[in-house]
Amino acid sequence: MFSEKKVIDLSRVVSSRDALRILPPAMARRLGVLPIMIADEKLYVVMADDEDYLILSQLENLVGLPVIVLRAKTPESVSIFIRKYYPEQVSELDGTPLGLLEEIVFRAMLSRSSDIHFDSERDNGFVRLRIDGMMRVDQKLPLANMNELISAVKVSSGLNIAEHRVPQDGQLTLWIGNDEVSMRVATVPTLYGEKMTLRILATESTLAELAELDMLGMNEQHLQMFLDTLESAHGVILLSGPTGSGKTTTLYAALRHLKKPETLHILSIEDPVEIPLDGINQIRIDSERVDFNRALRSTLRHDPDVIMIGEIRDAETADIAIKSSLTGHLVLSTLHANDSVGVIARLLNLGVAPELVNSALRLVIAQRLVRSPCPHCVQMESPSTVDREFFGWNDGEMLVPKTVGCPLCNQTGYAGRLGLYEMVSVDRTVREMIRNKESEDALSHYLFHDQNQLTLKADGAEKIRKGLTTPEEVRRVVYLNDK
Ligand SMILES: [Zn+2]
Repeated sequence: MFSEKKVIDLSRVVSSRDALRILPPAMARRLGVLPIMIADEKLYVVMADDEDYLILSQLENLVGLPVIVLRAKTPESVSIFIRKYYPEQVSELDGTPLGLLEEIVFRAMLSRSSDIHFDSERDNGFVRLRIDGMMRVDQKLPLANMNELISAVKVSSGLNIAEHRVPQDGQLTLWIGNDEVSMRVATVPTLYGEKMTLRILATESTLAELAELDMLGMNEQHLQMFLDTLESAHGVILLSGPTGSGKTTTLYAALRHLKKPETLHILSIEDPVEIPLDGINQIRIDSERVDFNRALRSTLRHDPDVIMIGEIRDAETADIAIKSSLTGHLVLSTLHANDSVGVIARLLNLGVAPELVNSALRLVIAQRLVRSPCPHCVQMESPSTVDREFFGWNDGEMLVPKTVGCPLCNQTGYAGRLGLYEMVSVDRTVREMIRNKESEDALSHYLFHDQNQLTLKADGAEKIRKGLTTPEEVRRVVYLNDK
């Protein structure tokens, strides 16, 4: 249930459009009020000074609704978020389709959405946002406005505006505040018109928020392992995880951590470049025209200290990656495998000699993303019998988060995400086991039993106990490769 006495974490709430519209920007800034939502015909707000009753009565007169004041963590956070939601420079495009597009993209950026969807149904159009991996309706539009909006995107992204019957792809760049936002645009014909999807490619400033190493959700031990390995001058660090598991964010966070343009030459080779990074030479590979491995070989002649390779897909790339690390480079890349031990097996399967793996490989990371419970409605409960069995919990007193759903999380029960990690540091014993061609099971036993390293599941279990995620989320992402 939603409680008015809860302290609101503004970084994990997205103010609704209706609520924002009810208060003009100048008023919001002057009164120090940020509308959060309208529910049961009441306006919920946070205020910079939540004991100023004069402002409260002014506000009620102004909006014509009873106002409920929620408490924010700090008055400063209210001011920061008022500036975020109501930026000073007002767009001259207000009321035009392009103005509406800018507003939608702005909201998507505020809510850390990965995609924007424009859908047309029989009577209405819907703007939906993908937030933390889940779809959410952001607003309903008359069909005519939706069509204007879709045309505006087509014009700005170089698509054929007259063509509605075949799918089209393009690229769109908008300036939102001080941020240059790039998006990949795709259209497809549907029963009632066209569907359009905008994939937001993160910008340097969203990345700055996302990809600080200590924001990835690694526990202290994992973070230390990762940092220690990044400090070493050469060797290979490999990441694995399915699409959408946050691998790219981790890699970029590593690059940002290493970024010392005056002392290090960092070069990345990607297909495609997902996020432009200052101070790093990013080479974009168009796999249809440029041969990935030829490009990779030529980059080595540019004398990099650190190389990031988007993905190792074949034996040749694996070979170049391993050999360049042996000539004094630090190489970061991803490789497809179910878990960390699987990465080592896959490298060997690609034909890399065990002694080369042993001399080059420093660290393997497997990762997944799980959602965090909404702090405004989460409850704690005793774990179910199934969960006790699955996670091996036998503490009768322990409590785990149970999601509920409230207006602040759009009834999803979740807000925000964090990573689960499994890390293998290639030590002397691991090297010996690789040399002796021991089985994956034997390696797993040594690492996760003898050495007591955390598996993805064990890391998940720890994070559930800390209230950072739920049993359902961890089961969802580790179920397929339970150890
Ligand atoms: Zn909630």
